[in-house]
Amino acid sequence: MDDESTRAVVVHAAPLEAAVRAIFTAAGSSAREAELIARQLVEANLTGHDSHGVGMVPRYIEVLRAGHLKPNRHARVTLDSGVMLALDGDEGYGQVMGHEAMEHGIARAREHGTAVVALRNSHHIGRIGHWAEQCIAAGLVSMHYVNVVSEPVVAPFGGRDARFQTNPFCVGIPLPGAKPVLLDFATSRIAMGKVRVAMNKGEQVRPGTLLDRHGDPTTDPRELFARPEHGAIVPFGEHKGYGLAIVCELLGGALTGGHTLHAKPASRAIWNSMLSIIVDPARLGTLGNLSAEAEEYIRWVKASPPMPGVDRVRMPGEPEEEHRVQRGRDGIPIDAATWAEIVDAGEKAGVRKAALEALAGFG
Ligand code: NAD
Repeated sequence: MDDESTRAVVVHAAPLEAAVRAIFTAAGSSAREAELIARQLVEANLTGHDSHGVGMVPRYIEVLRAGHLKPNRHARVTLDSGVMLALDGDEGYGQVMGHEAMEHGIARAREHGTAVVALRNSHHIGRIGHWAEQCIAAGLVSMHYVNVVSEPVVAPFGGRDARFQTNPFCVGIPLPGAKPVLLDFATSRIAMGKVRVAMNKGEQVRPGTLLDRHGDPTTDPRELFARPEHGAIVPFGEHKGYGLAIVCELLGGALTGGHTLHAKPASRAIWNSMLSIIVDPARLGTLGNLSAEAEEYIRWVKASPPMPGVDRVRMPGEPEEEHRVQRGRDGIPIDAATWAEIVDAGEKAGVRKAALEALAGFG
């Protein structure tokens, strides 16, 4: 990598998607698969979640080249009882599996009023809010419990070392004529990507966030990335967030027919399994009530006087919408190290740096 590829860049969403599509097409994916991967990663950046954006490209290419991730797979139906569907991701790209799982679930929820979709053995399905947004676009409420089988980084409540991953939980609620409510978070106190950012900037993390390699509290982000022994992130919300992480592991990883994390995996793959429950409020006969009650309730909650330093009270989903507007207009900033890694991953997949940067709109 030369000096030029280590510059920070600002790239607009459409050319960034084109660049990412080119990498995955060169890496053997069909045009549709490359498009689904690129769209979801860039959407994560647009919504402000850089930890799940195009910075994942090098990891995916690494896992693909190691032979763990399989291109051009589809969500395979292993059980179909009408309202319940079990799908196997067959170690394929999570962007395809998440999309196809929601397509199936949306069709079933339209037919039956509700659907339970159990997806197992998919590679990283990225930002879970993306899948709730697919349901929201169809007018459907959805709940998602997700587990992650990858190197453990989160300690149990009261424990001193990492035993599970950042198990995300997500709920999407469409509201006719109003913005949807979209709650989507990792059950760790802080996302792993945010600890890495603090380390790269030479900053400390907030007290109460991390344990060091001996299991004692620390604010030093380097402890999480130390090897062979490393520290851990604590769960959010003390015993309550920890409990939700356990529920995500058991519903996402076990009830779906997938795997839980109970040993250190050898590979760098990130396996996700997800239990999704989808509900059609129109078929439940409560769409009008949901809409009217939500309007009153949200107005009431948002009327709370803001704390010093806070401009206004927000609903879950609003920060992402604000990012979407700002980054859609001004472009997506990508730090120098991340862009250099993406260029390097592109070269490994067979896309020359000059071609990639031309697609990204500069160079
Ligand atoms: P976060 O801490 O930024 O929390 C995001 C949630 O909190 C959103 O619902 C957001 O709207 C809401 N929120 C934030 N500020 C708010 C405010 N001021 N008022 C009201 N609501 C507010 O998110 P995170 O925990 O860093 O997770 C980031 C992403 O990582 C998520 O999209 C998650 O799905 C994803 N993730 C994926 C995996 C995986 O294995 N696929 C694992 C972990 C996390």
